[in-house]
Amino acid sequence: MRQPPHILVVNGTKVRRPVFVLGAPHSGVDVVAHALARAPGLYLGAGDPGVLDAVYALARRPSMAEEHASGTATLLRDAFAEAWQLTPLTCPLCPGGPVSAREAPEPCRHAREATRFGDASPDLLYSASALLTAFSDAVFVQVIRDGRDVTAAMLGDDRSLAWFKPGLGTLGEELPQPFFGIETEQERADYPRLSTAAKCALRWRGAVRLSARLRGALGADQLMTLRYEDLFGQEVETAEQLRAFTGASVSAVELVRAEPPGIGAWRSRLTSEQHGDVRAVAAAELTRLGYT
Ligand SMILES: [Zn+2]
Repeated sequence: MRQPPHILVVNGTKVRRPVFVLGAPHSGVDVVAHALARAPGLYLGAGDPGVLDAVYALARRPSMAEEHASGTATLLRDAFAEAWQLTPLTCPLCPGGPVSAREAPEPCRHAREATRFGDASPDLLYSASALLTAFSDAVFVQVIRDGRDVTAAMLGDDRSLAWFKPGLGTLGEELPQPFFGIETEQERADYPRLSTAAKCALRWRGAVRLSARLRGALGADQLMTLRYEDLFGQEVETAEQLRAFTGASVSAVELVRAEPPGIGAWRSRLTSEQHGDVRAVAAAELTRLGYT
């Protein structure tokens, strides 16, 4: 039975069409989030501890994220209601410094300016279908990047690699496990013997398979897919697309990055053995997405 839509109110504002940015690790979510967060009136968070708790609870239990349970929707709504609450103490835009006891719990001036809300926390992708249950009018921007470059970037990032350490790497018993890209009993049995490059490529594969499912489930009014490689050099077109899709005044200037985008960096950063390991697990997805 379809529940009536639940309207969340934050800082006295009804949350309408919240914007969520999704993608595999190192796929450019931060680039898109940076530009969206600077659009006037849109408050876009990332990495709030309460949100991360909810996100990883759902990453551990993929069935919970998929089952459209009201408890899961409440978990996410509560986490975001708190994350989007802007007071002088929690607001990243407020200058910091001493705050009076009277002002501390009150919405700050940025709270009054925020009419739209969103989030771009890492690994939000694994909560996508639960987010849709929690916010039926949510809009999603997903970013896709060459899995070879993603693997190369993950191999150079301790936070990405920490997930593969024994102990931390046991996200859960359920299959499939999109977070690690493990779908079958056989894949789970083989997993401990895989190289780190293969494990990174599997995480990418799990993410892009999830992205493809979202593409199949959501219409163009609710899901926009961007390619990381197109973000660079096509800032004006990308900003225009983001404006049309989200309704937020995204500036092309905010999409311009100082650091090089690292497109094709895998050619110098992956050994031929690592590249072979990536292809062994993700060749079909690389081909499907045109990364050949
Ligand atoms: Zn503020």
